[in-house]
Amino acid sequence: MNEKVNVEEIFGTNVFSMGVMRERLPKEAFDEVENIIENGGELSIKTADIVANAMKEWAIEKGATHYTHWFQPLTGITAEKHDSFVSHPDADGKVIMDFRGKELIKGEPDASSFPSGGLRATFEARGYTAWDLTSPAFIKETATGPTLCIPTAFCSYTGEALDKKTPLLRSLEALDKQAIRIVRLFGNTTAKHVYASVGAEQEYFIVDQQKALEREDLIFAGRTLFGSPAPKGQEMDDHYFGVIRERIGAFMRDVNVELWKLGVTAKTQHNEAAPAQHELAPIYEPSNIAVDHNQLVMETLKRVAGKHGLRCLLHEKPFAGVNGSGKHNNWSITTDDGINLLEPGVSPNENVQFLLVLACIMKAVDTHADLLRQSASDVGNDLRLGGFEAPPAIISMFLGEQLEDVVNQLVETGMAENLKEGGTLQTGVSTLPDFERDATDRNRTSPFAFTGNKFEFRNVGSGDSIGSPNTILNAIVAEAFCEAADRLEAADDLDMAIHDIIKEYMTKHQRIIFNGDGYSAEWVKEAERRGLPNIPSMVEAIPALTTEKSIKLFEKFGIFTKAELESREEILYEIYAKTINIEALTMVDMANKQIVPAVIKYAGDLAASVNAIKAAGGDDEAATALLKRVTGLLNLVQSARVNLSSIEKKGAAMDRGPEQARYYREKVVPAMEELRKPADELERVVGKDYWPFPTYADLMFEV
Ligand code: ADP
Ligand code: MG
Repeated sequence: MNEKVNVEEIFGTNVFSMGVMRERLPKEAFDEVENIIENGGELSIKTADIVANAMKEWAIEKGATHYTHWFQPLTGITAEKHDSFVSHPDADGKVIMDFRGKELIKGEPDASSFPSGGLRATFEARGYTAWDLTSPAFIKETATGPTLCIPTAFCSYTGEALDKKTPLLRSLEALDKQAIRIVRLFGNTTAKHVYASVGAEQEYFIVDQQKALEREDLIFAGRTLFGSPAPKGQEMDDHYFGVIRERIGAFMRDVNVELWKLGVTAKTQHNEAAPAQHELAPIYEPSNIAVDHNQLVMETLKRVAGKHGLRCLLHEKPFAGVNGSGKHNNWSITTDDGINLLEPGVSPNENVQFLLVLACIMKAVDTHADLLRQSASDVGNDLRLGGFEAPPAIISMFLGEQLEDVVNQLVETGMAENLKEGGTLQTGVSTLPDFERDATDRNRTSPFAFTGNKFEFRNVGSGDSIGSPNTILNAIVAEAFCEAADRLEAADDLDMAIHDIIKEYMTKHQRIIFNGDGYSAEWVKEAERRGLPNIPSMVEAIPALTTEKSIKLFEKFGIFTKAELESREEILYEIYAKTINIEALTMVDMANKQIVPAVIKYAGDLAASVNAIKAAGGDDEAATALLKRVTGLLNLVQSARVNLSSIEKKGAAMDRGPEQARYYREKVVPAMEELRKPADELERVVGKDYWPFPTYADLMFEV
């Protein structure tokens, strides 16, 4: 252990990067690839053959025997089907290692088992994968040996997106196009593209593998479905940023090395608020690559944990009673000549541009709060959002005191002349001060917070892909930019028109700004008064995808067709019902096979003890009371279990769709809670030696 790690030497060694391509491809082929990465288009089959060959040679040098089209179906995780480079042996029986351009650019996985929400049934039986040149190929080192992974989009034959990457790429294109129109209005003639950058902070829990394997709920549901809080939780704040334990440290070190090899800039690591909870953050990078890299981060955390005899839990709420895990999605937009549109600048021109961009984002978030809420919902996140720990389910924006003050002044007078905390600020067409980035000023309860030169969307679930949230974010901002650009390009007096539009948008959408405590009950009331949607769960969030407003947005920018949106809705309802169904069945199984027998055994021993005490003429009052309590709770467990079983069966027999999902949320989830309550109480009274699986204390404090 602890051999020296030379980061410079290992970083990116498993990536078929631009540098590697420049080195290994003939200039012409390289230029063609580079041009497509920048401007889009299709690779000629001739060049594809050259690239494929170079890729194969490189991969074989690294020990790879297989390649795979690596894609992101609507399950939320990645999929891969490995093919070896082996082809027909020649006449002498010598094997030929082969990889052609057509295999590089297009694959045809037999993908009929991936969720398609009826799309494939309607349009075409099979799907295909297509190389996404904007994300580099890489080699994954797993027990199957090094494998060349080619990031791909996954579509039906008629082009309907069956994955999370395709819409993301389309949304980036839309944002690029519309944002360029905005910067042109401010005299930028050099920028060719505008990119979204993303840095995703990943939270996770680590528990002992052996103990995790003793719990069916962790195996099947990824979270505990029973469990009474340990005497100690996170109330001492002694875990957050605490010294990293040796076993976890060794794990983190290996995770970093694996990620660095993959070109992932693992940067920050620390203990999080809850016991056994940690965080890893890479440095931000172009959105599409960040989405792929976040998948690699999740995969690597799980894989390396296994090697250390640990288990990584990416579920949003593995343990009741302590914080859950999320993924802060840091997002900004930058021109290819290096201007971050979310950075208040130094010249008046840049300042006004910043205010216009801000006004557009306020409009986007307010108009499509329901879509943003939906984009971050998954089954596990229901236990987190609005649970008084993570951001609330109500979408609002936090700007910080200074900036909020500027917005207030602009709304009131059309000018912002005073800067809070001194300094002069004249806006309209004048100058904004340098905003101080005040770390203490951060509002941790806000779902969508401005943090200096980026927005941080904090609702995303720890186990979820960041593909959808970023697709939505890019799309809604593209729409606001487009509407502003339409008006401004047609204006006679541009300065005046910009001024008016900033004032108009900020006035109309000021209600989305909230700097207070997002966990408070008052905010729920205040948000209702403001007319902001408060969408309590994933099931209620799903219809946001197919409102008229949403279909109009996505069709206008070619991000989703109506059919694609409907198919996604269908899949989400199904995922919800299936996930809860697995949880319900797991609870019934654990109750049947573990909890009930253990409690009966304990009660039996207790009864024998009561009799023995009585026979000896002792005072059996305490023992008898305990026996009564235990058997009383046991009866409750039994009836709740029977009830859950029958409720679950009805749900499983229903037709798929919104009604079934609602049934699971309204009927099955409460029945699960009914079973959990007496079982958790039993855990608190039954003798430790009798309890059939590791407790919260065992899992969270003994890693
Ligand atoms: P926090 O205090 O929330 O942990 P950090 O400053 O450490 O915030 O950054 C968190 C994440 O935000 C990191 O992944 C970082 O690279 C990313 N980030 C920083 N600046 C930007 C930016 N301009 N655009 C997008 N992401 C950014
Ligand atoms: Mg953060």
